[in-house]
Amino acid sequence: MTVILYDTTLRDGTQGEGVQLSVADKIKAARLIEELGIRYIEGGWPGSNPRDEQFFAAAKVSLKLASAKLCAFGATRRAGVRCEQDKNLAMLLAAEVPVLTIFGKCWKLHALEALCISSEENLELIEDSVRYLKARVDELIFDAEHFFDGYADDPAYALAALQAAERGGADLITLCETNGGALPHVLEAAVRHVAGAVRVPIGIHTHNDGELAVANTLAAVRAGATLVQGTINGYGERCGNANLVSIIPALKLKLGIDCLSDAQLARLRHVSRSMDELANRTPWSQQPYVGQSAFAHKGGVHVDAVKKNSRTYEHIEPEAVGNERRILVSDLSGRTNVELKARELGLTLDPKAPETRAILARIKELENRGYQFETAGATFKLMIDEALGQRPRYFKLREASVSACIHEDHAEQERFDTTATLEIEVDGQVARTRAEGNGPVHALDKGLRALIDKFYPSLKSVRLVDYKVRVLSDGAGTGSVVRVLIQSSDGDEVWDTVGVSPNIIHASWDAMVDALEYKLVRDKVAPRGAEVEQRRSRISGLAPREGSLS
Ligand SMILES: [Zn+2]
Repeated sequence: MTVILYDTTLRDGTQGEGVQLSVADKIKAARLIEELGIRYIEGGWPGSNPRDEQFFAAAKVSLKLASAKLCAFGATRRAGVRCEQDKNLAMLLAAEVPVLTIFGKCWKLHALEALCISSEENLELIEDSVRYLKARVDELIFDAEHFFDGYADDPAYALAALQAAERGGADLITLCETNGGALPHVLEAAVRHVAGAVRVPIGIHTHNDGELAVANTLAAVRAGATLVQGTINGYGERCGNANLVSIIPALKLKLGIDCLSDAQLARLRHVSRSMDELANRTPWSQQPYVGQSAFAHKGGVHVDAVKKNSRTYEHIEPEAVGNERRILVSDLSGRTNVELKARELGLTLDPKAPETRAILARIKELENRGYQFETAGATFKLMIDEALGQRPRYFKLREASVSACIHEDHAEQERFDTTATLEIEVDGQVARTRAEGNGPVHALDKGLRALIDKFYPSLKSVRLVDYKVRVLSDGAGTGSVVRVLIQSSDGDEVWDTVGVSPNIIHASWDAMVDALEYKLVRDKVAPRGAEVEQRRSRISGLAPREGSLS
């Protein structure tokens, strides 16, 4: 049994709130979708907006698909107009793609009340439009809009609409669950009935309003559908379309249907992430199969069992979809968690060693204070180094203070009115600075960087990517303990650090210092003072005079 995949991210997916793709983004997205091994890529609806028209024009020049076929989407002709005169059909043909998909009404209510034509005329529209286009294109797919609602209302009429498309010469008919509220057992029975009543292959297109789009798609496949429509990450109007990122592994790994190769399946996470990036959306961490949390283990008993055999708590091998197992460190941690988390960071810890016990005690103490290491892997690594007495100190803070002015007038706030004064010690020298910023954290960051970047030039590439604050204790109001999470990047890698304090500036400072020191530790940069020590010891007996090394 085979199932053919049909992607509508670029058309139905862009109907989703907050999903915006430029023409250039759509070209990139089409390449990504092809990379995943999807057969049909629906590029847009040329008659509905100028951007989709521009996309098809650009695709002719710069999108050379090797294995996938580009489709254009549109409606049946308007009532009272011949196909030759219909502007929308002409625009579909002008897209010059090998596959056209047109939708028509299958629900009598829609024919009578939306199109305001007789139910017979609607059937003529469908047959006519399909016949006209099929004569001018390689493949013609008919999308039966609202099929399942129409079928529930009047099964004979809904089937008659499909048969009209079949008579017109449609190569395939896709049954659309347009309103997204169907239940799998109802949908499955309808698909089974249709599969026995028409000769052309059947496809399925579902929406996620009842959070059942994936289940409904799989039910339709069991009932005989051989083409599956969906979008990457389930983008789409309202609650979204059927999510191909969940459907594909279910078909391949659970139903044993070879819809793409193992190597293509292993690109699933990459494609899902890259699409989120193009659409400027934050990846959903609990997204099945590909989310950051999809194979993250936290409970000590679970972690212990997963270490022995991953099947104990994992429904598939994470690598099959390009994901990876993660061990979370939390107040549920046992020694195994700490050991595995350390291994993830490239550290080897003996679970029975007293140092491991000391680290565990330190984690519990910090967690009691509000620290959280689940995401802040960089602070966790520094904390282990510290517990083992191996954390290098790159500088020493002697004094830091911040002053900020607050203005009633918003226009005044644009001015840099926050000043940080810093005094640190590096390499035996005392360095001082005053820096201005948009706010206290910005001013401290600018000041610290101005002082230490010249000692550690590789820090120049480090940028703050994200900054989150969370109030921890209830009831204390503005006096509460806060947790600051900082995400930093040097262009190659991204890392997270955490700081906790009743003082937001202090918490930010701790997270900021960890972020910079992590970069230096990771790059194996020796602290300036230690360098001096080393050089001194190498030339023992010939100690240089004081000050000559500075
Ligand atoms: Zn749809």
